[in-house]
Amino acid sequence: MAAKRDKKSKGARRRPGGERVLEGLAVSPGVAVGEAFLREAGEIQVNEYTVSRRQVPAEAERFERAVAKAHGQLDKIRAHADNLHGTAAEELGYLLDAHEQMLSSARLTKGVGRRIEQGRINAEAAVMAEIAEIAANFEGMNDPYLAARADEIREVGLRLIRSLSDRPYQGFKAVPAGSVILAEEITPADTALMDPRRVGAFASVLGGAESHTAIMARSLGLPAVLGVAGLLEDVAPGETVIVDGSDGLVILRPTSKRIAEYRSRQEAMEREARALVRLRTRPAVTRDGVTVTLQANLELPREVSQARSAGAEGVGLLRTEFLYMNRDNLPGEEEQTVALLEIVRAMGGRPVTVRTLDVGGDKLAPSLRPRFYGTANPALGLRAIRLSLKEPELLETQLAAILRAGVEGALRILLPMISTVAEVLEVRKVLAATARRLRRKGVKIADPLPPLGVMIEIPGAALAADAIASVADFFAIGSNDLTMYTLAIDRGEESVAHLYNPLHPAVLRLIQFSVEAALRARLPVSVCGEIAGDPRFTPLLLGLGVRDLSMSANSLLRVKQQVRSLDMQAAARRAQVIMDQTDSGRIAALLDDFSESF
Ligand code: PEP
Ligand code: MG
Repeated sequence: MAAKRDKKSKGARRRPGGERVLEGLAVSPGVAVGEAFLREAGEIQVNEYTVSRRQVPAEAERFERAVAKAHGQLDKIRAHADNLHGTAAEELGYLLDAHEQMLSSARLTKGVGRRIEQGRINAEAAVMAEIAEIAANFEGMNDPYLAARADEIREVGLRLIRSLSDRPYQGFKAVPAGSVILAEEITPADTALMDPRRVGAFASVLGGAESHTAIMARSLGLPAVLGVAGLLEDVAPGETVIVDGSDGLVILRPTSKRIAEYRSRQEAMEREARALVRLRTRPAVTRDGVTVTLQANLELPREVSQARSAGAEGVGLLRTEFLYMNRDNLPGEEEQTVALLEIVRAMGGRPVTVRTLDVGGDKLAPSLRPRFYGTANPALGLRAIRLSLKEPELLETQLAAILRAGVEGALRILLPMISTVAEVLEVRKVLAATARRLRRKGVKIADPLPPLGVMIEIPGAALAADAIASVADFFAIGSNDLTMYTLAIDRGEESVAHLYNPLHPAVLRLIQFSVEAALRARLPVSVCGEIAGDPRFTPLLLGLGVRDLSMSANSLLRVKQQVRSLDMQAAARRAQVIMDQTDSGRIAALLDDFSESF
């Protein structure tokens, strides 16, 4: 069975017209001109299969969860529709009302429930069949208004089927080269499947600036704009689109003048990137002779070559979630060891900091998904180290792989979302036990054991940094989550993205506090959140005493340029002035003014 978005319904809402400029969040710099590839416009294959009587309640529950998820998606789009102006907002509002009503209609939910229970078929097939029947009823009424409702119910059906079926993992292979992907939502796992040689850029209706999708876009060097209200309401597949990830614009059906303007911007950016390459082998030393270590953050193993060509001195943060993405089973010890060894070897003896699994929140792994069902606040729930300690076999497998790969290189272990000293001590015990088990089996492991570091990314951990320093071998400050948890702003939520600000004095004080605690305890400390890759923050972080920054490889040379042009003593003085400020706007002005002075 193949379900297809009805072109008529899309066409009915399209205003004929020329160029249209939409605004969103500029999350990954660069520009691309390409043909629109609408992800949700494609066919969805639905397989029908029989479920046993015992499986019926689980199937019905799956359908209920899909309905709840679809309601949540519509709520999010509605919150966003407020950013649109005039009739566009009104039109989208009516449409969302209609979709919500249909989603809540007893006819639909009862009908699907009956098909699952009596017909013993899977939820997707039940939705398809029920939607087809409702749509046919509408169309049979011989009334143009009701006939239009048939298209809407089909769209609701597609939304449900998408929520039910985990999308196939082959991702964007069918995308014509150079396309610009437009979608309602793009997850980090989707981004992992994008090949920058095929995909020109992407934009979506949902998503915040510091979401992992945004981070992955920056790592892959893919221009991206998220949180674009009305993005899918006025565009057809194949139309020319510009994604301007530097200014946060999506331009539908651009004029030829506009295309020419963007082509020349693209060329200028390429020239600038080529000019930076000459810094690759130069040292990251300030004008007054202070050396700074610049390392790379890796989301995917394929970025290791970028890290090398940017001259990264190591991997300051290897996010291991890639091992768990786009698959239904868990990676075993052998597979993880091989993956780590590849990175260790590619880095040629430079240190590699492997962070243990950090799923939960916006980073989900299909094989672990049932652990998160029904969580009201995923970002505050069973995430990262909490999951690893609750299910020690997850942690033991990762630690064993790190210990084995550590034979060939300088590996360090980094723990995400630590909030207490006890958690670190518990991991130390698991690490020692895992090492003993491997040695007993005669497996060669790193000797001595790799250093065990802590991400400082929860305000409580920052405030307890003195205590945590007593049990950690190093700190890595995760400013992304630290900002989110300090300001209570969801980093992936577009409607509050304007409030997400690492320059808030509270965030800066926590960073300062953690750095000072580390320096007092003589612990190495790095910053590996996104601010480490933003040259605007470089003088402030160095001024606060940080000498190790880890960032997306794409940002490394620009940050090196900034390091080489600044004077450390002046940066320290400016940091002092900044830490006395109470207003983030003033702090931003003081930083910009400082950067302009050299
Ligand atoms: C952070 O929170 O700053 C961080 C580096 O971790 P992640 O972005 O993977 O949550
Ligand atoms: Mg984090």
